[in-house]
Amino acid sequence: MSWKTLDDMDLAGKRVLTRVDINVPVENGRVTDATRIERIVPTINDILERGGKPILLAHFGRPKGKVVLDLSLRVVLPALRAALGRSVRLIETLEGAENLTTEAHAADVLLLENIRFYPGEEKNDPDFARRLAGLGDIYCNDAFSAAHRAHASTEGIAHLMPSCAGRLMQAELTALEAALSNPKRPVVAVVGGAKVSTKLDLLGNLVEKVDSLVIGGGMANTFLAAQGLGVGTSLCEHEMAGTAREIMGKAAAAGCEIILPADIVVARAFEANAPHEVLAVHLCPEDAMILDAGPTSVKRLERVFDGAKTLIWNGPLGAFELEPFDAATNAAARHAAALSKAGKLISVAGGGDTVAALNQAGAAEDFTYISTAGGAFLEWMEGKDLPGVAALKGETAA
Ligand code: AMP
Repeated sequence: MSWKTLDDMDLAGKRVLTRVDINVPVENGRVTDATRIERIVPTINDILERGGKPILLAHFGRPKGKVVLDLSLRVVLPALRAALGRSVRLIETLEGAENLTTEAHAADVLLLENIRFYPGEEKNDPDFARRLAGLGDIYCNDAFSAAHRAHASTEGIAHLMPSCAGRLMQAELTALEAALSNPKRPVVAVVGGAKVSTKLDLLGNLVEKVDSLVIGGGMANTFLAAQGLGVGTSLCEHEMAGTAREIMGKAAAAGCEIILPADIVVARAFEANAPHEVLAVHLCPEDAMILDAGPTSVKRLERVFDGAKTLIWNGPLGAFELEPFDAATNAAARHAAALSKAGKLISVAGGGDTVAALNQAGAAEDFTYISTAGGAFLEWMEGKDLPGVAALKGETAA
């Protein structure tokens, strides 16, 4: 661990510039899901308890460097105040933040208006980063989900002042490092979802790091077709057959076992409750599509999970939005959750539809860690350096 946490900083009397992700869904002027707000509460409380003054930096939507009134962070204030049980004041301009009024000083927490109203933010403009840094004494980054972007408030600023990870960032980095950087072996990864083409970097990195790679969902069809099996009318990227074979070759060279479905659930319509049948993997009829893995495949996955110490999961094993084609995803996820609950498996999941699929399976709660970071989670799993995390590890000029 080469980054600092709040425990390493002396916060007493310090203004703590805290980058958070409160880019929450809003409908008719109300926050419809406050999960992201709830997740930053421990960091803010911690800063306050240590005598620091949190000044929150956050983006909201995509105003593209201009003031867009509909994208004001004012809309999150009621939810933020409710989650914290504290007074929060919105500071509308940088000038306002540079010359705080007595009233503003009286609030427990300050929130700077949408940082993307300023063109310097997404350009990572050094002058803008310096101006932001001038607003505080310490920088705390609690926005892992924005760490794959090199912006002034996520990257530039961290080089200009003493910096640390907030509690949510700390939890995310600790879980991801445990899963991929220095994992307990054997490690198994499940990669499912629609298309191979969107997950090439992910597959390429994982085959070199994990002991077994389970490929599921529409992606598995492309691998089956690449092995010469018929996949009927299934979602399948036939043009990716060569790439799929390359990934299998790379896996074999790295000693990574690739696990594909042994049996399949096929239907003739992409619809919930479409008439369906379970067949051996090589028997897909020409006029049918594969919508899920079958029970034998699930049993095999359960045995693989039983023998593993660490599990990384991204993407569903079938068309999980359509019953009963969620069966393999649900059963495998529940098995992994039970092993995790029993302390036998470290399980980390995230990215895209994965959180929804594991929630639907009722398995999310017992996974060791579920990342809600989306793009940043996937880039980490792809082996990429996240600028916001790299900057926390770097030297500061302060
Ligand atoms: P991704 O965003 O790449 O994780 O893909 C998730 C999507 O893949 C979900 O909408 C699933 O319905 C879809 N999916 C998974 N398996 C299949 C399949 N066998 N056929 C069609 N769609 C699938």
